[in-house]
Amino acid sequence: MDLAEWRAECQALGVPVYRAGQIWHGLQDRMIGSWDELTILPAALRRALAEKFDVAALTVAEVREAADGVRKLLLACRDGELIESVLIPAKDRWTLCVSSQAGCAFGCAFCASGKAGLARNLVAGEIVGQVVLAAKWLRENGSADVAAGLLRPQNIVVMGMGEPFANYDEVLKALHILNAPDGLNIGARHITISTCGVVQGIRRLAEEGVQFELSVSLHAPSDALRTRLMPVNQRWPLVRLLEACRDYTEATNRIITFEYTLVRGVNDQPEHAQRLIELLRGWKCRVNLIPLSPVAEFAGEAPDERTCEAFCDALESARISTTLRRSRGGQTNAACGQLRLRRRGKVISQ
Ligand code: SF4
Repeated sequence: MDLAEWRAECQALGVPVYRAGQIWHGLQDRMIGSWDELTILPAALRRALAEKFDVAALTVAEVREAADGVRKLLLACRDGELIESVLIPAKDRWTLCVSSQAGCAFGCAFCASGKAGLARNLVAGEIVGQVVLAAKWLRENGSADVAAGLLRPQNIVVMGMGEPFANYDEVLKALHILNAPDGLNIGARHITISTCGVVQGIRRLAEEGVQFELSVSLHAPSDALRTRLMPVNQRWPLVRLLEACRDYTEATNRIITFEYTLVRGVNDQPEHAQRLIELLRGWKCRVNLIPLSPVAEFAGEAPDERTCEAFCDALESARISTTLRRSRGGQTNAACGQLRLRRRGKVISQ
């Protein structure tokens, strides 16, 4: 709930509205794990809140740490659903990749999250809860490789399990709560929504007047190949997707980042780069190239370094701003949904 909703709740409970600020501070800054910790509130109010609201909707089920510093958190929801958040360190900050759904219905070929289908949407509290829990985990397991005082995520990417635009209202609500100046105050430009290409979500976001960043997973420069890799392309083929992206850029004056996972022999050849250039030439956009992170369920491999660099150079030569990223967290099963799938597999086979 946002601060306005807490104020309304206080009115409904018959307690002074200033209590809403104390509750908000307890949840957002102190990151309380139970109402009993918020001793500034009268005991009767704490009891009333405990009956109605769950402040610990998520618990940490498992943490995997990779040699490159990536921490993958497998989190258990109250109903037993498992979701994933990934903490990615940089020199002076943490980025947290959060999930928007438990599972995913979109079934992209090289993504473990889609393999078991969609279980359910997350509510806003479970999305904000991932950030709060990650911050708490960092506080309690502080890492020497990150400067003191930065023990909470500074960047949020909604790029974990699920398609954010398939859970539009709860995701946007959560992002507004994370962005609230009197709350966690994570700057809008440090928050990225990543879609597999849900056109109606892109169009809706264009009308919101928000400053959040948008990234779109492209992964292929032709409909035939993209449909093979991403079934969503059947519903919204490239022409409609790119039209929505152009309209978004025009309406918001914001630059879209296109994600392109490079898969050896599938979409990494010079002709693919050329076709991509034809699609994006002259646009104000960025391209992120990401060599495939292996998933047991997809028989694909990352291209070798020379192929990745050649692809990157081709785009750069066409004046398309391009970054060749390294897939991180390989030893943690950190690609989207892998840890959950392993755990579910274990549970199912027991
Ligand atoms: S890549 Fe994203 S949209 Fe595609 S299956 Fe995975 S979680 Fe779903």
